[in-house]
Formats: sequence, C-alpha cells, structure tokens
Amino acid sequence: MAHFPTEFLDEVLARTDIVELIARHVQLKKSGNNFMGLCPFHHEKSPSFSVSADKQLFYCFGCGKGGGAFQFLTEHDGYSFPEAVEYLAEKAGLEVPQSLAPDSGDQEKRKRALALLEQGATLFARALMSQEGKAGLDYFHRRKLSQDIISKYRLGYALPGYGFLEKVLGRDARMQAQLEAVGLMFKGDRGYVDRFRARVMFPITDRRGQVVGFGGRILDQGEPKYLNSPETAYFHKSDLLYGFSEHRDEIRSRKLLVVVEGYMDVLAMAAHGLPVGLAPLGTAIGERQVREILRLHAEPVFCFDGDRAGKQASWRALERMLPVLSSDYGPRFLYLPEGEDPDSILQREGADAFVQRLEIEAKPVLDTWIQGLKNLAGSGVEGRARMAKKADAMLAVMQDDYLRQVWRQEAEKVTTLKLKAPEASPRKPHPISRVASLATPNQEKFLAALLQKPERIRPLLLDQNVFFLDDDGLNLVYTRVLELAATNTGVVQALLLEFPQEERIPLWASQSDISDEEYEKLELLMRERHLHRLCKKPGTLEEKTYRQEQWKKISEKLKKVGH
Ligand SMILES: [Zn+2]
Repeated sequence: MAHFPTEFLDEVLARTDIVELIARHVQLKKSGNNFMGLCPFHHEKSPSFSVSADKQLFYCFGCGKGGGAFQFLTEHDGYSFPEAVEYLAEKAGLEVPQSLAPDSGDQEKRKRALALLEQGATLFARALMSQEGKAGLDYFHRRKLSQDIISKYRLGYALPGYGFLEKVLGRDARMQAQLEAVGLMFKGDRGYVDRFRARVMFPITDRRGQVVGFGGRILDQGEPKYLNSPETAYFHKSDLLYGFSEHRDEIRSRKLLVVVEGYMDVLAMAAHGLPVGLAPLGTAIGERQVREILRLHAEPVFCFDGDRAGKQASWRALERMLPVLSSDYGPRFLYLPEGEDPDSILQREGADAFVQRLEIEAKPVLDTWIQGLKNLAGSGVEGRARMAKKADAMLAVMQDDYLRQVWRQEAEKVTTLKLKAPEASPRKPHPISRVASLATPNQEKFLAALLQKPERIRPLLLDQNVFFLDDDGLNLVYTRVLELAATNTGVVQALLLEFPQEERIPLWASQSDISDEEYEKLELLMRERHLHRLCKKPGTLEEKTYRQEQWKKISEKLKKVGH
C-alpha cells in the first residue's frame, strides 16, 4: 500500500461517501450524528454497527470490526487493498497513476483473467438465446425458470463441438493459454479444446459478484452430470458458495438462509421468490464455507434430499461444522421426503409451504447428530460402543466447551456409556497484535481524544516537552499521529492504513465524544506521567531538581482540575 501516494489516497477518500458505500449492503438509520444498522460482520438482532459520515468510519460495538471505506471493501467485499483503491478511484472519476499502480504485472494479469471470464459468461448467455442454444433454453424453461431469473443469474449455454470460444476470441497461442489459465479450455492430445460443451452454464461469482468460474450441467445422458471449472488462481471451490454475492443482502434482510445441494435448487428457490439459497460447488461443504454461512446468518437451515446420498452429505456437513459451532449459532437440518428436492417441492407445494417446512420440520443440529449416531450404531452392545467411540471423536473436535458438555450429556443418554471427551479443550493463545494492549485506559482515551478532534494535535507539536506514552504499541501510534498532523493528512484514515492489525483505532475514533474539559485533564495526566518517569532517570543534580519542580507543578494543576 505504500505504493500509492498519500495525496492520491486522500483524494480518493475525499470523494468517497462511506455511508453510500455501506448502505448498498446494510440498511442504515440516522441516529444522532451517526447511522446505525445491523452489523454485516456478525449476526445480531439489534443494531450495534455505526457509520459516521463526518469521520468516514464504520465501527461495530458488538464485534469490534471497524475502519474506513478501503477497509469496508477489503473486509466485506473481499477486495485486495489495491483493488479497493482502484474501485473507489474509478467511482470518483480519478485515474490511478499507472506508474504507481502496485505490482502492476500481477494486477494486470488478474484483471485480464477476470475480464476474460466475464466475456465467457456473456458469450455463453448469448449462445443460450441463439438458434443453436435452443436445447439449453428449453431445459431452463422445463425447469420453470423465467427470463428474469435467466438474465439475473446470467445462465448460459456452451455449444456442442469444439472451438466455440476460439471462434469469437481468436485462435492465437496467447489467447489459448489465457483461456486455459481461467479454466475455459484445456490441452488435450490434439491441442487446446473447450472444457464445456453442450452444457447449460452457471456462472459462479466471488464475494463481489465477479465471475470467477463456471458450473456446467450436461443436457443429454452423459458424464459427469455437473462439470465445474478446475481450481485456478481465481477459482477456489472450497472458498465459494453459489448465490453468495447475489443473495447476501436478501439473506440479511429476510433473516433466512437455506443451504441447498445444487445450483438448480438455489435457482428454483429464487424463482419462487426466495432468493436466500446458497450451495457448495458440487463438493461436500467445507469448514471455510460453514464459517461464511454462519457469519451471514446464525440460524441457517441445511436442506438435504431425503435419500441416502442426502443423509451422507448432511453428516459430512455436520462434521465440518463441529469446530465452528458455538452457543451463538443454531443451524438446523431439514431432510426432504425421499425422491424430492427443493425444486420438486416448490413446484408442487409453492413457496409458503416450503418455508413452513423449513420452520416446522428442520431439526436442531444436536438432534441431527444424535439421530446420525443412532443410525450409525444399528442395534446390539457393539453398536452402542461404536456409537460412543464416534461421539467421542466428534466431541473432541468441538471448540466451545459449554456446548460440548451439553452434547456429551445427550450422547451419554443414548449410549448409556460414559464418554471420554474432555471438559475443556486446550486453547491456542490469541495472536498478539503488533500494538499490544497493555496500555491503561487513560492512555487509550488520550489517543482517542486526539483522533476525535485532530485540532488537538497541533498544540502538542509546539510543545517542547513532547511526552511519550509508556506503552510501546500506543507510542508507535502516538508518534505517527504527531507526524501525520504535521503533514495535514486525514489522521484516522492514514492510521487505519498503517496499522491494519490495530483494531482499536476505529473504536477510538468512533466512541462517544471526549469533551474538551476531559481532554484537558487527560493531557495533564499524560504530562504528569511523563515527568514522573523522567524523574526516575539518572541525570545531574540540576536536571533532577528541574524535573522534580516541573512534576510538582503539573501534579498541582491536576489536583486543581479535580484529579
Ligand atoms: Zn459486528
């Protein structure tokens, strides 16, 4: 980030409105000087997420996430820092100086790749609407997807035969290599060929809605039924969920999230007015995906087909979920009747009945676990032992001690055996940020007061006795605050960029205002502490006496203001 000149970043921020940026995802209500809303970073029922237009900051008093416009884009939308800068610059009508663009090689490559994937999506969508794409369009119509849904999700069709993409994009070696890098072609015995042929196409987007890969379903009999893009530099199956960028905001506002098994389930739900479905990309759901799901909604319903494969998939999902589970979350599991999937249920019963099923029939994860253990055991004494062993192994993975105790008790009831799973798991120590939190509240408050009213900083610069805080981390921040004030930069925004791991900076700037009266006291207190420390240092008798006198003066002043 050091590659961008500060003046440029300032200019970008000056032309950005963080309220508008965040309001695209979070419903904000004016409250005093700030806007409040439900935090998009953790699940909550009453708003503790504040956005300040004056300070151009967001801060969540619930989970502590905070920052400026750049941070919102990186943390929420998954942009890299340079991408966030570029995005906001473009929005503001500013041009990123090319010579200053960071790692311009890699950035350029990524940009080109994403543009190519985007172009791919457009070509597949166009093919779907062409004469040759009729088979694909018929398929979607048979599945009762309207033109609106087809356009919104950019559904497409990959024509049968080879050379479809090359015909449009060019046949040169460079283009072929690029198409291979993004997973649209692969090199066979006879050179490069299209990966997707005679398939209806589902573009898969990342958190910000950029196409990063595709899923393709075969129309005729053939294997595999679903084919996905291979893992590329841009496409990581285990990080992505189908429907995420399209449904994130709806899920939050409707407080409903349904995890289904496939693309068509997600689309069938959307077609019935339920744009709240997410699906893994043809593989079993993984831990990272579970985390993402629970961050979005604390009580998602995992919906599985009622057949054997569905039961297996749900057990795998439950296993992945164990390390993430805590008493804050209440995921539930729903098994559809044998032979049904969300699509067939929705077609027959409609959306209301489907939602009712979710509400009434979905079982808490604990019930699902106990039932799964019972299924695993079968009957007889050995069965009970097998069940206990499995239960123990699964409990050992859980991180939430209290929840584990509850689960253990339930498992002991059904196995009638004493389980071995530990009461408490050894905890990994939290990584300590560079700016360690050893400071006294007053020192923090002092910094907060400076960030809240940067005009308080200037007088400190003139001070001969520039005093320092005794906490190294805070000192680092304080020193930068003084330097930044001298350069006339937006202090808070600059600090956010320089100390991304210091989560207290947005807190300091966002917490309730520290009055001038209180600030005066804090300033005196900081001086007093500094002089007190100086008094203990070696020096000539003269120096020592001088320091003592200074310290006494400040101490008395402090007493006067009532400290
Ligand atoms: Zn939060």
